[in-house]
Amino acid sequence: MSDLLQRARRVLPGGVSSPVRAFRSVPGDPPIVARAEGACVFDVDGRRFVDLVGSFGPLILGHAHPAVVEAVTRAARDGLTFGATCPGEVELAERVLARYPCAERVRFVSSGTEAVMSAVRLARGVTGRDSIVKFEGCYHGHSDGLLVKAGSGLATLGTPTSAGVPEGVAALTDVLPLDDEAAAEELFRRKGERIAAVVVEPLPANHGLLVQRSVFLERLRTLCDEHGALLLFDEVISGLRVAPGGMVERTGIEPDLVTLGKIVGGGMPVGALLGRARVMEQLAPGGPVYQAGTLSGNPLAMAAGITTLDELARPGVYARLESSSARLQAGLAGALRERGVPGSVVRVGSVLWLLLQPGDAPRASAGIRAGAAERFGALHARMLAAGVWMAPSAFEVAFLSTAHTESHVDEIVAAFARSLASLE
Ligand code: PMP
Repeated sequence: MSDLLQRARRVLPGGVSSPVRAFRSVPGDPPIVARAEGACVFDVDGRRFVDLVGSFGPLILGHAHPAVVEAVTRAARDGLTFGATCPGEVELAERVLARYPCAERVRFVSSGTEAVMSAVRLARGVTGRDSIVKFEGCYHGHSDGLLVKAGSGLATLGTPTSAGVPEGVAALTDVLPLDDEAAAEELFRRKGERIAAVVVEPLPANHGLLVQRSVFLERLRTLCDEHGALLLFDEVISGLRVAPGGMVERTGIEPDLVTLGKIVGGGMPVGALLGRARVMEQLAPGGPVYQAGTLSGNPLAMAAGITTLDELARPGVYARLESSSARLQAGLAGALRERGVPGSVVRVGSVLWLLLQPGDAPRASAGIRAGAAERFGALHARMLAAGVWMAPSAFEVAFLSTAHTESHVDEIVAAFARSLASLE
């Protein structure tokens, strides 16, 4: 174990600042990253890895994109934080709203967690109701009421996933299976008048990539309408990535609230909640729902977000991402086939998920079998040794960036084929 890793474990719980980084479900020690550029990260020993993590989603332009670095540097010279509105907030909000016509106001925060936590409070404030509904396998950040997993039965009362979440808080969250309209209908029949919001990742990407049928999402929309609940699309991963307007654009479904994170900050700490003016103006200072942040709308973070969105708006960017991602999907799937390894590569835009189990890709968590994670662990270690950095969990997706060239993609596929061969 490296000296830095030992020191990290003496001063940081688990040696990390966020748990999945700790390599608990894959073999080996996590490399400590010294720097990153374009499609690659370099550890403190100088090893180079082609990166499929992209900091878990924000880096759609790759690492240290020159225009983003330049914008942040320029902003830093003008002051790090003001505690007052800066031009960047207006400019980033205008760009976000142009991509999300279903919304008229944006509130900036500093993380995806904060965005969803605030959106849930807003939904409760607006409806005067307490209960919220989430789906098994969807992650919405680590605020208490959303750290709740499903019980065994349908629509059972929430049980806390994490120690430290009071039962009374968990009890306000109902957890439903994805891909199951009947379960949602039954819950709304039973307690529709108490539900403030249905919170869903329209492209669930936190327990693998569980692509939903659009009729399922449409049914959630109509159930919310029929019962006076708000529909919240958590697009912290999918927003600005799978299309400029995320899954709202791809599905044509209008949620009441959207949460963004990751890409909207271009690698700096930013989250956002957005919706119609009549809902969003219920936030303080105009409305009764309190929400605040010392560093919210930070000028450096806004500069990174603005530049990222402007780079993404150049002609052909999403099409190029689509084609490199399709090339990666085809390459990985081809290697699986050639080696006769049961598995599939699920993909929506530049979000990919490798699932090492036979059969069709599941649409709900229950369809993921235990053996898939074990097989992934062995593969992860070999990919890392071969110079490819995958997220250290079978349930994390991979992200491609505009910095990944065809030759990076081919390098990943070659490493994958070699890694599969060495597993046999
Ligand atoms: N919602 C979704 C859909 C996410 O994927 C995440 C983080 N992966 C969050 C919320 C929380 O965001 P953050 O880690 O920035 O707090």
